[in-house]
Amino acid sequence: MDDLSLPPAPAPRPGRLDPVDWDAFRALCHQVVDEMVDRFQTEGEGPVWRPAPDDVLSRFRAPLPTEPASLETVLDRVRDDLLPYTLGNTHPRFHGWVQGTGTPAGALGEFLIGAINANTGGREHAPIRVEEQVVAWMRELFGFPRGATGLVVSGTSMATIIGLAVARHAATGGVDREAGLDGWTGVRRLVGYTTEDGHRSLQDAFSLLGLGASALRIVPMDDRGAMEVGALEAMIRADQAAGCTPFVVIGTVGSVTCGAVDDLVAIRQVADRHGLWLHVDGAFGAAARLSPVLAPRLAGIERADSLAFDFHKWFHVPYEAGIVLVRDGERHRATFGGRADYLNSLDSGPAAGDLWPCELGPELSRSFRAFRVWFSLQHHGLRAIGDAVEANVDQARRLAARVRAEPELELLAPADLNIVCFRYLPPDEAGASAPRGEGGGTHLDELNRDILLELHHRGIAVPSPIEREGRFGLRVCLCNHRTRDEELDHLVEVLLRLGRSLVLTA
Ligand SMILES: *Cc1c(COP(=O)(O)O)cnc(C)c1O
Repeated sequence: MDDLSLPPAPAPRPGRLDPVDWDAFRALCHQVVDEMVDRFQTEGEGPVWRPAPDDVLSRFRAPLPTEPASLETVLDRVRDDLLPYTLGNTHPRFHGWVQGTGTPAGALGEFLIGAINANTGGREHAPIRVEEQVVAWMRELFGFPRGATGLVVSGTSMATIIGLAVARHAATGGVDREAGLDGWTGVRRLVGYTTEDGHRSLQDAFSLLGLGASALRIVPMDDRGAMEVGALEAMIRADQAAGCTPFVVIGTVGSVTCGAVDDLVAIRQVADRHGLWLHVDGAFGAAARLSPVLAPRLAGIERADSLAFDFHKWFHVPYEAGIVLVRDGERHRATFGGRADYLNSLDSGPAAGDLWPCELGPELSRSFRAFRVWFSLQHHGLRAIGDAVEANVDQARRLAARVRAEPELELLAPADLNIVCFRYLPPDEAGASAPRGEGGGTHLDELNRDILLELHHRGIAVPSPIEREGRFGLRVCLCNHRTRDEELDHLVEVLLRLGRSLVLTA
C-alpha cells in the first residue's frame, strides 16, 4: 500500500491548555528545579515540622477556581502555603511512623512521569515493558519462579487486598468471583491468621473481601514480637474442628510496632500441612533482602504464595509505589482477568497485548508508577539502597544500646530491626516503671507525651507515639537515608534535658 497518496497531516499546534508562551514556561520550570534542589540541600537546617498558621489554613478553603491564575501565582501559593508545612519526612531528623524519604533523583523522575502521562492499564507501549521489567527484577530479587505475576500498585494496603483476593479465589475454587461467598458450596467460614502486631490493613482487606475482620484470627507472639508458630497450628486445628475453613496465614516481615520478623520457614511448613496460602506483608521489612547481612533473616520469603511490599518506604522511591507478587500467575489472572469488549486486543499495533496489567488487579486506568521504581533503582543501584537499609539497622542497634545503658531511659520493645520504642524515666523512678493499671504508670505516660509534643512543636525531631503493653513511649523508626548517628545522639541528649526540666516544672 506504499503507493497510497494520503493527504498530509495538519501542522501541530499547542492545545487549549498548553502554555501560551513556551519560553516563559521553560524559564519557570528551570526556576522551580533550582528552588527544589536548594530545598533538598538546606532542608536539614530548618525545623522538622511546624504548624501552619490560620491564614495559611484559610487559603486551603478557597472557592472553586473557575477563572485561571498565572503559573507564577499558583507557584507562590506552593511556596508560601505548602512547602513550609509538610510533615518533614524528607528531613534527616524525621523518624516517625514508617515513611520513606525519597531522593532528589526520584523527584526528577516525578516530572518525567507527569510529562509522559502514560496510562498503564494495558495496550502496547514501552511503559508496559517498564512495569514488566520491574516485576521481573522483583521476581529475581525475591526468588519467585518465572510463572509468578506481579503488579505495581499504590502500596502494601492495595497489594495485600490483591494477594488475599487471589488466596480467596484459590480457596473457593474460583466460585467466589461470580457467585460470591454465599455461592461457595463450602459455606464454611473462611478464616486467616496474623499476630496482634499484624498491620491494620489486613483487617481492612478482610472486611473489603467480605470475609469480615473477625475472620482474621490473632495468633500469640513470642517475646521478640514474632508469631508463635506452635500456637498457629493449634488455632488452625481448633478452627477446623469448629467447622471453619482456614485458608490463609499472613507472615509479617518487619512489624510496624517493633520491626519483628516472623519465621516464614516454620510458617510455610504449617501452611503446607493444612493447605493454607502464605501471604507475606513485607511493607518495609522486605527491603532487608537488599543487604547480604540482613537477607538471611527473611528466609522463606521466596516460598510465599503472595508477597506485598512498598518501594516508597525503605527503597526510598517517591510516593506512591508498592508491589504484589503472586507465585501462581494463572490463579492471579483468573482472579481479576477478562476485559470489556471495547478493550479487546488486536494482533498488533497499540491495541495489542495478551496480558494487560488491568487484568491483575481492580484498577483500569493506572499511573506510570512502575517508572518511579525503574528510574530510582537503576540510578541508585540496589547495593547502595541495601547499604542505607543496613546503616539504619546499625543505628537502631546503637540507639537501643544507648537506651539500655541509660538509667533514665527504658526500652519498651525488642529492637531487632530498625525500630526502637522507649521512654523517659525520671531518675528516682528508674526500675519502678509499671504499666497503667498496675499502679503509677499514668504520670509517666503524660510525661512522655509532653516530651514528644515538645520535640514535635519545637521542630527538633519527629519520632511517633507508641503504646506498648500499657506504656506510652516514643517510637523511632529508622527508615531514613539522611539520618546519621549524630542526629540520634542529639535526640537522646535533648530528650534527657526535656525530661529533666519537665519533671522539675511539674
Ligand atoms: C506501611 C505498612 C503497610 C501499609 O502499606 P501502605 O503502603 O501504607 O499501603 C502494611 N504493613 C506494614 C507492616 C506497614 O508498615
